[in-house]
Amino acid sequence: MFQLFVPLNFLGFVYREIKASMANIERMFELLDEQSAVKDNGTGTLQVGQGEVVFRNLQFAYQPERPILRGLNLTLDAGKTLAVVGSSGAGKSTLTKLLFRFYDAQQGEILIDGQPIQSVPQQQLRQALGIVPQDTVLFNDTLKNNLLYARPEATDAELAEVIRMAHLQKLENECPDGMDTVVGERGLKLSGGEKQRIAIARMLLKRPAIMVFDEATSSLDSHTERGIMAEIREVARGHTALIIAHRLSTVVDADCIAVLENGQVVEQGTHQQLLAAGGAYAALWQAQQQSDAAEHVDAEEK
Ligand code: ATP
Repeated sequence: MFQLFVPLNFLGFVYREIKASMANIERMFELLDEQSAVKDNGTGTLQVGQGEVVFRNLQFAYQPERPILRGLNLTLDAGKTLAVVGSSGAGKSTLTKLLFRFYDAQQGEILIDGQPIQSVPQQQLRQALGIVPQDTVLFNDTLKNNLLYARPEATDAELAEVIRMAHLQKLENECPDGMDTVVGERGLKLSGGEKQRIAIARMLLKRPAIMVFDEATSSLDSHTERGIMAEIREVARGHTALIIAHRLSTVVDADCIAVLENGQVVEQGTHQQLLAAGGAYAALWQAQQQSDAAEHVDAEEK
């Protein structure tokens, strides 16, 4: 989702810049910001404590005539996992774009541990945040360097630890030159699941206070997706985590699930609470169960 609004030729430029300076992810965001209308003029110092995030009365539209968020209120409790669900186009990924300040809301604010995100430099904001995006960008470089760009100064021991935690050892063992194998467009092509594990490992190396997972949709088969979500749950435990969920089945055990509809949060609670309430979530759940069952029948008939 994230690279959809970044022109490809610009990504090429970003890549060359990153290669040239062996910069970290913050540098990439700085380069992306050269295209962004958001003003990076905050002068405060972000004091990150427990990592609570509050979205307060957010109103946002990409085009003025088409509001996406209409007074959205949502609190991401420190140390908990919150999943945001809602029909396609409801504005789930838009929330993460606002949190990373790719855009600023027209009204309302986002607070991290009580501090408005506009009041601090972008570099500090992005230091506090990590994302596993829907589609991970891999550079034409070694696996090792693809991981290290999250934190170039990481030691070999730290690298080995995140490779283990993100279940990348199998890939390492299968690649001809192990972690020195070149991947990306001009190197070894990796599967959607492998790319996601690399994104998880990058996040683990960075160790941000707040973790965002924009769940992959079509690129992963359901078996791989379940595996990845189990890994994400393991990684997110004890951290503040926001999961943008495009499929409900993967977030049933989140601490809290918020349902987005018409630009607002219409329901919040655990999976069981929301099912019992018989409202918007229960309807989405039922619709997804039916479409999963239909897919299953289709697959069996083929
Ligand atoms: P999905 O589950 O299908 O990924 P979503 O809930 O994450 O959907 P968003 O990606 O946040 O939805 O998009 C919300 C709406 O904003 C959609 O109608 C989308 O077409 C529109 N939109 C997203 N990005 C842009 C953009 N850069 N410019 C204009 N409209 C956009």
